[in-house]
Amino acid sequence: MNETPMVRFDKVSKRYGPLTVLDALELDIAANEKVAIIGPSGSGKTTVLRMLMTLEPVDEGVIYIDGEPLTHTPRNGQLMRADRAHLKRMRANVGMVFQHFNLFPHMSAVKNCMEAPMTVLGLSRDEAYARAAELLAMVGLGDKLDHYPAQLSGGQQQRVAIARALAMRPRVMLFDEVTSALDPELCGEVLAVIRELGAAHDLTMLMVTHQMGFAREFADRVCFFDQGKIAEQGAPEELFAEPRNERTRQFLSAVM
Ligand code: ADP
Repeated sequence: MNETPMVRFDKVSKRYGPLTVLDALELDIAANEKVAIIGPSGSGKTTVLRMLMTLEPVDEGVIYIDGEPLTHTPRNGQLMRADRAHLKRMRANVGMVFQHFNLFPHMSAVKNCMEAPMTVLGLSRDEAYARAAELLAMVGLGDKLDHYPAQLSGGQQQRVAIARALAMRPRVMLFDEVTSALDPELCGEVLAVIRELGAAHDLTMLMVTHQMGFAREFADRVCFFDQGKIAEQGAPEELFAEPRNERTRQFLSAVM
């Protein structure tokens, strides 16, 4: 049981001026593991995802994907800042779905899903179309390929965003509060897609969520963040039923 973790944060710190957002974070996520990140606003949850997407630089420490440094390359026995080719290759391992969908508004659902596979992976138009159509069907939108984002409900847009991320065939999928901009009746269809993905695909999944019920049901492990650190983590049935940390107890009693 000594396998290389799919994701490793090795003493990763992040600061904005005087504010320490992540404080020497250590977090290993096994291949195919489903991890939920919970915690108060401002505790650094989104920053963890943004760093994995290389949207935020790391100040200290190293992030590894399947044993390979994400934003560094070994040179002369030291880890140096990686070049663009390395970043491009490593980025392809990670897909992210955002709170506010972030679809291209001037592109149809299928075009949204074809863009990156064509420009980044070099797929032909036909290959990209076939892949996009298959994924849109999988998220229940096989009849909406030519719809533009404005013609779709929030839940449908979010499912397009999931298909778009999957079209890059990432090994790690990140979900950042993907239901918090949705009306409650539309959350279910998005969570159902995520649930199905978790069951059917060989995917490592990391999600920031305020939906404790979903975290409890879906995650193999829940990490409670507080002030840039993991204050407590464990299997959901333990962490939710018997939190050991006083901060976790306070947080859970406020949100559940
Ligand atoms: P969470 O997702 O847990 O709410 P975040 O990771 O979004 O927390 O943010 C952690 C802290 O970092 C917050 O206090 C936030 O205001 C701050 N922060 C995030 N991004 C920036 C930025 N670009 N510049 C300055 N401060 C930031």
